[in-house]
Amino acid sequence: MPHPWRFSAALIWLALISFHGAALAEPVPSPKVVFVIVDGIPADVIERVPTPAIDAIAEAGGYTRAAMGGPIGASGETPTISAPGYMSLITGTWANKHNVYKNYGISPDYRYWNLFRLVSAEKPELRLAIFSTWTDNRTILLGEGLAEAGNWRFDVVVDGFEDDESRFPPRPMDAQIADIDDAVSREAGKLIESKGPDLSWVYLQYTDDVAHKYGDSVEFEQAVIEMDERLHAIWSGVQARQRVHEEDWLVIVTTDHGRDAVTGRTHGGQSERERTIWMATNSQRLTPDFYATPEIVDIYPSIASHLGISIPEQVARHLDGASFIK
Ligand SMILES: [Zn+2]
Repeated sequence: MPHPWRFSAALIWLALISFHGAALAEPVPSPKVVFVIVDGIPADVIERVPTPAIDAIAEAGGYTRAAMGGPIGASGETPTISAPGYMSLITGTWANKHNVYKNYGISPDYRYWNLFRLVSAEKPELRLAIFSTWTDNRTILLGEGLAEAGNWRFDVVVDGFEDDESRFPPRPMDAQIADIDDAVSREAGKLIESKGPDLSWVYLQYTDDVAHKYGDSVEFEQAVIEMDERLHAIWSGVQARQRVHEEDWLVIVTTDHGRDAVTGRTHGGQSERERTIWMATNSQRLTPDFYATPEIVDIYPSIASHLGISIPEQVARHLDGASFIK
């Protein structure tokens, strides 16, 4: 009979070898996420206008029509306005919880943890990035650095260009915002490729500006085509990154609201076209729920699922959405 110590040591050694062997055979790729909000593009427009970058992303995963606005006539009803939409995405809750009903003069209720706070609490080693035309997304909606919002910080910040008039001087039709969207998407693509942040938010604004001025028009459709070219820079960055790193990238592209059916100039109400948004993603782990009109609040738990984060009970019990990613 072998010495008991030797026997168990041999077993441990064997277990170590087989564990190591398995790890070598099947390395687990690190999950990474980039979600992109492109402002104010109704589903019928994104489906009509040629958008090869969105098509390429959806080809890898899926495309679906989706809903914004919450339950009509109930306490969660949320205006189809930009900041309320971003808040519903980043907190997974409707406006009766996150308390953002308009774009300015707002007091977000930070008790409903946004995605970045969730990630920094549950996986503090992950790196967070934001690429945005609008600085308020970081400083006000997310409450970066605020004690009452959890006092977390981004590792990469690319925003603030709207205040940089020397680099982006005002142009007719606010076209400097298009220049800023260009810079934001180029930087996002480059930084994703070189640094691979674990969770990134990219926000592109110009499509909404054009639609407010021209409504449904060739100008708006042209702005959507140019948005898609910017998206191509981000998608190319992800693909280049994935070719050389053992990483599993989730890309989700969506919009924050539709537009009125008569002119396409306005939004904010609960009409079908204002509520009908869309999502495109490269995820290969979509559940049937993805094709059953998911809501903007479903993105939060889906991203958590991709990152392998189990949402703590005190956060999960407030969520208004459910994951469409296995
Ligand atoms: Zn908007």
